[in-house]
Order: sequence, then C-alpha cells, then structure tokens
Amino acid sequence: MLRSTMGCQIEPKQEPGRRTPLRGLERRRPITRCRALQYAPCATRYIAPRSYPASQQAAIRCRVGSLFIIKIAMPLIGRLPSYWETHNGRIVLSALFIFFSSSTAFFAKLLEIYAHQPGGLLFSASVIALFAIATVLFFLLICFGRLTRWILALFVLASSQAGYYMAQYGVVIDVDMLENTMQTNPAEFWGLVTPSLVLRTVFLGVLPAWLMLRGRLRPVGFWRALRARLLLITGALVAAALLVVPLTASYASFIREHKQVRLYASPLYFTYSLVRYANLRWFPHAPQPHRTLAADLKVVDQQRPGQIVVLVVGETARADRFALNGYTRDTNPALRGQRLVSFTQVTSCGTSTAVSVPCMFSALGRSRYDSAEARRSDNVLDLLQRSGVQVLWRDNNSDSKGVADRVRFENFRSPQRNPVCDPECRDVGMLDGLDAYIRDNAGHDILIVLHQMGSHGPEYYKRYPTEFEKFRPVCRTGELQRCTKEEIDNAYDNTILYTDHFLSKVIDFLKPYDRTHGTAMLYVSDHGESLGENKMYLHGAPYAFAPQAQIRVPVVLWVGQNFSYSLETAMRYRDTPFSHDELFCGLLTAFGRATSLCEQQRAFFALRKPAHPG
Ligand SMILES: [Zn+2]
Repeated sequence: MLRSTMGCQIEPKQEPGRRTPLRGLERRRPITRCRALQYAPCATRYIAPRSYPASQQAAIRCRVGSLFIIKIAMPLIGRLPSYWETHNGRIVLSALFIFFSSSTAFFAKLLEIYAHQPGGLLFSASVIALFAIATVLFFLLICFGRLTRWILALFVLASSQAGYYMAQYGVVIDVDMLENTMQTNPAEFWGLVTPSLVLRTVFLGVLPAWLMLRGRLRPVGFWRALRARLLLITGALVAAALLVVPLTASYASFIREHKQVRLYASPLYFTYSLVRYANLRWFPHAPQPHRTLAADLKVVDQQRPGQIVVLVVGETARADRFALNGYTRDTNPALRGQRLVSFTQVTSCGTSTAVSVPCMFSALGRSRYDSAEARRSDNVLDLLQRSGVQVLWRDNNSDSKGVADRVRFENFRSPQRNPVCDPECRDVGMLDGLDAYIRDNAGHDILIVLHQMGSHGPEYYKRYPTEFEKFRPVCRTGELQRCTKEEIDNAYDNTILYTDHFLSKVIDFLKPYDRTHGTAMLYVSDHGESLGENKMYLHGAPYAFAPQAQIRVPVVLWVGQNFSYSLETAMRYRDTPFSHDELFCGLLTAFGRATSLCEQQRAFFALRKPAHPG
C-alpha cells in the first residue's frame, strides 16, 4: 500500500554500474526517479556514495527514504494519539506546534541570512531544532498538573497573535512594543484587526487551544510522572548539546553577529518581554515621590514681547518623505512657500510613540531614558508652567503618554470637541478656538502643543481627506503585504501631504500674532516608519537594530519677525546632526528660561549663540 503510493518508479533501461552495498538492489532495474525522495530526510543524500552511478545512488536514497518512512516515521505518527493523552506528550506536541506555527518570521530571518551560504541550510536547520528543543524545555519546566492544559491553551492563543504581527509587519515583541500595545486605544486596535488576523486567530489560536483543553490526560503517579519529566528534560538537554557542539563556531558567529534574529523566536522572546514588562509595570521596587527638577530655573530674557510657540508633535513621519529634505515627490507644496528651516539630520529617541513622546519632553535624553524615571520626574512642560508660561496640550492622537498629566489637556479625538471629523477627526480641527485661548491668556507667554494623528499606520488611506489623495493608486487595507510597494508609498505620501497642509495652517494661524508677539512653530515627528523595506512594516523595532526609516524624523521650524531667535541663524544648522534630546532645553531657551540642566545641552533654539555651535 505504502509502496504503491510512495514507491519508486522504475525506468526500463538498464545502466551498467558497480555493485551496491545493499543486498538485492543490483537485481532491480536502475531507478532514476523516486517519489519517496520527496519525503526522505536530507541525510539520505550522504548515504549514497558519489562514486556510484547516478541511478544507483538514486536507488539507495529511495530505499533508505522508504525505510525511514515505513520503519520510523509511520510508527511514530501512529503513536501520536496515545502520546497526546499523556502529560508529557501533550506538552511536547503542543510546544512544537506553538513554536512552528508562530515563528515563521524567525525562520524567514534565518534563511535570509544563511540560505545562500555554504552549509547555511544545515546550520539553519540546527538553529531551528535547537529553538524547538528550547521551547519544549520551557514548557516542560512551567507546565504541571491540572494547569498544564490551560497554560498551553493560553500560550497558543498569545503566540497566534504575536506570530501574526512578527510575520506580517516584521515587528519584535519587546518591552516597548508591549508598552505600546497596552496604550493602544480602541480605534487603533480596530485598525490592526484584519481578515488574515481573524483567520489566523481561529485556525492557529482558538482551535488548537480547544484541542489542547479537550480530553482527559491519563492519570499517572507523582513519582512516575516526575521521573518521566526528568528523563525528558535530560534527553532534551543532551539533544541540544549534540546540536551545538559540532557547529560551535557557527553558533558563536550567530550570537555575535545576528543576535536580533532570536528576538523573533516565539513564544520564548515575547514571554521574556512579558515578564520584564510585568516586573517594571506592576512590581515597582518602591513607590517613589515625584521629582522636582531645575530648582534654579529662572527667567533670563524679559525684554521680549510675549511669546506664542506652537509645538506640533508629529506621528510616524519619515524625514526622507519630506520634499523639504530632498524627496523627489512634491509632498510639501504648502510649506515650500513659507519662510522656514527644515532640519534634515534629526534622530528620534525611540521607535514608538510610547517611548519617543515622554523621552523628548524629559531631561533624561535617549542615553539615560527610563520610562518610570521620566514619568515620576518633571518634564519641560512642568518647568515652563512653573515659570509662568501658559501650557495647553491638544491631542488628536491617543494621549500625551503622561507628559501632560499636570498641564491643561484637551482631547480632540471626538466630534464633541473637534469640528473637522469625516468621521475621522482631522488634525486641522485642533486649531479651533485657539484665538479665544490666546485672548484669555493675554500678557502671558503661551506654549500650545498639538499632538497629531499624522501618518499613523497601517491604515494610511484613512489619515487624510479625499482631496489630499494626490498619489494613486493607494493601499486601502491595513494588511500592507497585500498591497504593492507603490500603493503603500502612495497612501503614506498622501498622509505627509496632509501634514504639510496642517503645518501650513498652523503657521497661517500664527501670522496675525506676529505683530504683537514673538511667534514660532516647531514641528517634530515622534519616530519614522518602515514601509516594506527588507519586509519590515510599521515601527517599534529595537533601537539598536532599527532601520534609518524608523529613527530619522522631520523637524521644521518657522519663526515670526519678533521671535527671539532668527531664522537665518537656524538655517546654518539645517544639516547638523540633532536628536530629540535637543527639545527639552530648546523649549526653555525659546521662552528665555535658563537652568544649569541646560548648560551643557544643545537646543534647537540656542543656535544663534556661537559659543554653543550645535
Ligand atoms: Zn508614534
């Protein structure tokens, strides 16, 4: 039966050749094609000596392959149902399913690196086997008693989600990504729900979870179970050692040069991230009081008219997609007509909103940034408010990520407050009623922060009104892999076009105040975006491995005639490398506030001082 479906096709023509070591094989007619080879393990390649004629090599491979299937694979498959009913069996089989169904991004990254190297496929197989064993070991160590089935079901559900986002968007589930996920609002969540995600959740999550929960596990005595578990763990450790020892040099180079690949191994890495995240979030070491910074903060420049600064915190805009920075498409038709400077070499603090936004307002800077430390310390808005500046935060994004906790905050994500919703509430609606706010705060310095929806993905096509759909055709789904690169680029570039329009409106709003106030608009995007380069989408990559597309951000400065700092001076520094770190002292300087915290710090607005030339 088996032979008839998987057996060898025999060619009628006899070929001369040497005798083969397998008894009886020489009496057969030579075999040139064998369907069984499709199923035979690669190892059979090494069984047939190259010195034999091709037909006899094929015969040997065919026989060994068939033997493997009949004697080893089939009996193993036959035993699976009864193995599934044991504790260890369910753990091992479920662990392998969880690993292989959710680590496709891991396999793809491995093959990307090794597929074309000599011996690369063998090494890739070894790494995959090693991580499969590590996954089995992990579950053998955490699954006990009645909890076993529930733990497996929970992990298969979580892995189906993590596997989807890693495979589809190339993201890594690290602590920052979990922080991001926890801060996702319902609108953002529904934007990420796609038909593929639903299908994957059902077939690789819900159904397997149901199977893992179903049926009784054969009861077995405690000591017997423990002995079997210890034997299995020992066997797994030995197998892991056998995989690593012959390829030690390759493993050493893998760990040294390609360590980012392991971040895609599911569920091991996301479990590690989850434990770290829970530890940071829910088990803080000790409650610490709020830290007041810059006790020496003082006003140093009082000879000015009142200042009005609008700071636009952008969302997901890439520096290289601004025509102002040299992009070949005209994505800045409105800003091109304004007197402004676009800084071309600015890097972000993080690759996600949850990191970049609190970081850019904190005194810590990227090198010392810690989310808990930033949250419990004064940020630049606190300092400005304390020194007499009226601070208003208007938000059309998710929220201020804790930055505006102690200043006036207005939510513009709903039609109750935002007059420009179709039904998506547009950034330009945040300008509504600002004249009244300025009037009410006459005689004060004013900082208005506008937190944009900007280019938030993956549904770029929703981020602009129809009249801004200049580049066509556009991708009209959140499943970016189903669109061509051109469609994704078009949709994304249209979002930049809309941001260009919005920024120009902000400048036009400020112009009438230019006669009576010092006015300025500073636009800073929070992070960039991957648009399919190297199969990466969205953002949130670990900073050390993040592509330039995710960390190079556009920064645009417009200043009125009476503003303390001249545009001409700023213009000289348009190609100087800056980062989000500059914003903290930049805002203080813009309002003529000084503190020892900023003595060594560079700032966007401090550019005219030759003593601190960027
Ligand atoms: Zn963001």
